[in-house]
Amino acid sequence: MQIDAFDQHKQDWNRKLLNAYWLLVSIQLPFEFLYSLTTKQEDPSQANHLILPLLIMILIMLTLETTNKLFKKLLDYQIISGGAFLSFTLIYFNHDVKLTPLYFFLPIFVSIFYFQRSKIIYSVGLSFLSICVLYVARLSVFSGYVLSDLLSVVPILGIVSIIALGIMNRGVEILNNLKATTELKQELMIKNIIMDKLSKTDALTDLYNHITFHEYLDELIQQSGAGNFCIHIAVLDIDNFKKVNDTYGHRAGDAVLKNVSSTLKTRVGLNDFVARYGGEEFAIIFTEKATEEVFEILERIRWQISQSKYEELNGHSVTISIGLNEYRSGTSKETLFSGADQSLYTAKMTGKNKTVIQTAQLKEAN
Ligand code: GH3
Ligand code: MG
Ligand code: MG
Repeated sequence: MQIDAFDQHKQDWNRKLLNAYWLLVSIQLPFEFLYSLTTKQEDPSQANHLILPLLIMILIMLTLETTNKLFKKLLDYQIISGGAFLSFTLIYFNHDVKLTPLYFFLPIFVSIFYFQRSKIIYSVGLSFLSICVLYVARLSVFSGYVLSDLLSVVPILGIVSIIALGIMNRGVEILNNLKATTELKQELMIKNIIMDKLSKTDALTDLYNHITFHEYLDELIQQSGAGNFCIHIAVLDIDNFKKVNDTYGHRAGDAVLKNVSSTLKTRVGLNDFVARYGGEEFAIIFTEKATEEVFEILERIRWQISQSKYEELNGHSVTISIGLNEYRSGTSKETLFSGADQSLYTAKMTGKNKTVIQTAQLKEAN
């Protein structure tokens, strides 16, 4: 996906470079025309001078456009080569214009766009080759030049290629810095998310912790004022857990805590909220459910836990007691919670392993 985007950007840039070449070709027309006007009297064969280079350049451009359509992958080198051919043509036909040899640098500048050493070296090689070809094929391009003059071009090309490579290296450096900064930012973001989760959850059971439970409950109570929806709170406590720890060890106790937690998580609905409230005490917030429905869910939880046998407890199981209370609008969070706590206390006092509902205190299940 990322590579596709990269290729797309490269193709866009190749298109821009091709457009720039077209611009270069099109501005030759008025320029060459002006040139032919000023030199008309001295040389009558100026028509060739005007038409031929333009035709050649248009031919080069059409070749480039065709390859752009047919072989998109090869186009980088072709664009650099096309630039070299264009500059060669311009220099060949305008050699008597003093600054024309500056066009030798065109393919080198174009190659910088790709930020690749091989392409820059390729373009410098092409420029040098066209200088040699022009020198050999038509000495008048460098009329009055001797071989040592041609060799003096080498340091100039050297400096230009050093600058081009420098620009490329600087660009790569900036890109790498940017990448490193982005990676660092991403790492920090992930760390933040992990820290956030750690501060909200309990490490042993992966349930929400006491603080998060209260934050969520506060928010829900606030919202329920506006929306008028049901909230139930259940407080669950493992029976005789101290004895479990004392008999089978703390690690066995931890295994029980983990198993009870995963039972709670899998049994409640998506809109419900399970927290480890304290040591072996859990709290669940149920939303948008009738008391009967919540009671049924809790009973299923209680039954499932009582049926889970632990290797760590020599095949024994544990039981839990549950206190349930429904939120009534206008009352406080403390009233809601102490109601559930009171029911839990009743469950403990009347034999444990049962669910007691605060609103209907007689409704008990065994
Ligand atoms: P009851 O039926 O009345 O609830 O009795 P209980 O023994 O379950 O209650 P009590 O409050 O006397 O003991 C709770 C025990 O839970 C004491 C403590 O050592 C243990 N406990 C609390 N947190 C952890 C924990 O993270 N891991 C383990 N293994 N035990 C814990
Ligand atoms: Mg207990
Ligand atoms: Mg307890």
